[in-house]
Amino acid sequence: MRTAAGEQTPGMIRGGLVDRFGRRHNNLRISVTDRCNLRCIYCMPEEALFLPREELLTFEEITRFVQTVQPLGINKIRLTGGEPLLRKDLHKLVHMLVQVPGIEDLSLTTNGLLLAQQAPRLYEAGLRRLNVSLDTLDPQHFRQLARREGLEQVLAGIEVARRLGFSPIKINMVALRGYAEKDVVPLARFCRHNGLELRIIEYMPIGADQWERDKVVTADECLQWIGEQVCPLQPVASDPTAPAQEYAYSDGQGRVGVIASISRPFCHSCNRLRLTAEGKLRYCLFALEESDVKPLLRRQPFDSQAVQELVRQTVWAKWDGHQIHSAQFVKPQRTMHAIGG
Ligand code: SF4
Repeated sequence: MRTAAGEQTPGMIRGGLVDRFGRRHNNLRISVTDRCNLRCIYCMPEEALFLPREELLTFEEITRFVQTVQPLGINKIRLTGGEPLLRKDLHKLVHMLVQVPGIEDLSLTTNGLLLAQQAPRLYEAGLRRLNVSLDTLDPQHFRQLARREGLEQVLAGIEVARRLGFSPIKINMVALRGYAEKDVVPLARFCRHNGLELRIIEYMPIGADQWERDKVVTADECLQWIGEQVCPLQPVASDPTAPAQEYAYSDGQGRVGVIASISRPFCHSCNRLRLTAEGKLRYCLFALEESDVKPLLRRQPFDSQAVQELVRQTVWAKWDGHQIHSAQFVKPQRTMHAIGG
């Protein structure tokens, strides 16, 4: 991804990381590991080959990258995986990142299996916002979807996090046909009852499985079921750059968000970049090309301008959006666990 040598990347001319479509990027998702202790059928293969530890960016390198891109306008960080809580001493990275001036928001997406143990240290380190991936309250469905046990641990983790004061805690549910029909209403009730926000994510072609469009349960279907069986929902204004469209219950008791990449694509307002665990920068979840920042992060003496230039070029090369609805769609080689949500 190159512009003419020495040419200032146009995006910077207008200030910040602005791409060719005028989208300003301030949100960075950082995968800290590709390892996971679940095997969700819509995400990763049963037999996954994981990165050797020395391939992973160190906490110091991740922090240096964040310090380097913050002046370009990055002010929101989300830590992801694989399963980020499998990365040893993750609370130390949280502590390093909350110290970076200009980072206004730090959050984490976890499958919750290790949350009960690690939540106190994460909270102490300064983390306040959590998304916990949970597709069902049915133990059998959990086993079928995650190909592992663990529902009770996840629920225990959510309870510990709630008591510690993490807020908001959002529950990310991937809505898969054959499951969501039975699972979305009990999950909506559970979230409403416990002061959690349900996030319904449409099933995307980013996993190891063969994606089938008719397995997508749309946002509209889920909202209809919840509105009819739990409480009527009304659309509410939400951050236009955020992937979720938000709805509030008519009695004021809680919210539901939908991340409808298939039925209501939101690429026109995308503000996200992704850094993989081994240091590849991706301008889109479905990107077919990446920039390698690791060599620049390990170069001595460190050259922050070289990193910033590579980031600008990556943003400038960004396409208008995923191609899922076009015949040209090519599924990325990487599966979700090696990119991060
Ligand atoms: S699919 Fe790509 S461009 Fe579209 S919202 Fe997601 S990350 Fe952004």
